[in-house]
Amino acid sequence: MKVVKFGGTSVSSGKQIEKVFNIVMSDQDRKIVVVSAPGKRFADDIKVTDLLIECGEKYLQNQEAEDLVDAVISRYASIANELNLPNSIIETIYKDVLSRLNGDKSKPIHYMDAIKASGEDNHAKLIAAYFRHQGIEASYVNPKEAGLIVNGSSGNARVLPESYDRLYSLREKPGIVIFPGFFGYNNEGEIITFSRSGSDITGSILANGIKADLYENFTDVDAVYSVNPNLVKKPKEIRELTYREMRELSYAGFSVFHDEALIPAFQAGIPVNIKNTNNPSAKGTRIVNQREHRNGPVIGIASDHDFCSIYVNKYLMNREIGFGRKLLFILEEFGLSYEHSPSGIDDLSIILRQSQMDAETEKRIIKRIYEELGPDEVKVEHNLSLIMIVGEGMRHNIGTAARASNALAEAGINIEMINQGSSEVSMMFGVKQAQENRAVQALYEEFFAGVLV
Ligand code: ASP
Repeated sequence: MKVVKFGGTSVSSGKQIEKVFNIVMSDQDRKIVVVSAPGKRFADDIKVTDLLIECGEKYLQNQEAEDLVDAVISRYASIANELNLPNSIIETIYKDVLSRLNGDKSKPIHYMDAIKASGEDNHAKLIAAYFRHQGIEASYVNPKEAGLIVNGSSGNARVLPESYDRLYSLREKPGIVIFPGFFGYNNEGEIITFSRSGSDITGSILANGIKADLYENFTDVDAVYSVNPNLVKKPKEIRELTYREMRELSYAGFSVFHDEALIPAFQAGIPVNIKNTNNPSAKGTRIVNQREHRNGPVIGIASDHDFCSIYVNKYLMNREIGFGRKLLFILEEFGLSYEHSPSGIDDLSIILRQSQMDAETEKRIIKRIYEELGPDEVKVEHNLSLIMIVGEGMRHNIGTAARASNALAEAGINIEMINQGSSEVSMMFGVKQAQENRAVQALYEEFFAGVLV
């Protein structure tokens, strides 16, 4: 039994939904279908989720939003029209959107979550109606009814473990199950959304719940590429990679698959296959527990920007018990999460996403570090990019760090810091943001000998 998830571009128009239908019908193991809200049809198009967010915000401020409501409804209407569906489905969607918009605004966060979630919820109803219209037994299933229970805050839902057992019974449901992605319900019956692009997470939770043999994630590319295709012409496609490799790559900017979505599938040992709705016969990329290491040390290169580092130096830091804990405690008190912390004998850097820290917070943090830790120097560096070279093969290959730093040196790039994760699956290089692309290209040339864009 397979869980199949279709992303926003795969369900953005009637034509795309016909492809979805054919894909599901071509394999009788494709039983549970998770869908996103209608996404972009062309580069400048607006996702239904973004329209809904704008609309909800206007309603919250008691402003007119007729045109936005129209824009949302006409997206569904044009899809229904293309698919020759009766108008009743659009009436149902219109009523639902209006009742959410006119719902209880006393808890604005929950109000907004209910509106955001309507994008997938209504699309699942529409797609189920289309399957039935084609003579196929199919039903829309609501996450509450199925037992997808979560906790956590808006945009940061966390699945509760008991959900998995409840979801198992979806196996018994006759016909095809069409399930909306992106949200669950808390124990109080309120809708809580996952983070953006969170339908990937729903698919993975369902795959775990029904103990699927495979989780197929259909998107709009043939495979996960070894590097951002905007930087390198025809980059190598990755056929197979491990959960850990994918986690590292999606963390650092590979947006093909949500980084949080790996965990449920990984916990149940279910392989994930990323495939293309527009070219379903392409093999795609498989994410598995273990793979054969036929490639070199590196399987992919990713990068992300807008990081900053807090550098703290103190002579004999290594002998001071509790130094690291105290430093991290200060960050914790400011509610900041950190990404990496490369260290030396007398110094330590903490790397964070800089959007978390405004100028005022930064000043207060530095002051507290001076007062409480008595360092010789504290320096904050902004606008850093992190480049990750990723590959399980690194463990068995000598000299990967030397090759990477050499390639960067030859490209005239100064490495601000290096960090190798203890698992030896990735190596991180911090560089100035302005040199990010060049650094990625230099590393790609070194490990894949590619043709640059
Ligand atoms: N529609 C939601 C978003 O735009 C979730 C998803 O597409 O996976 O983020």
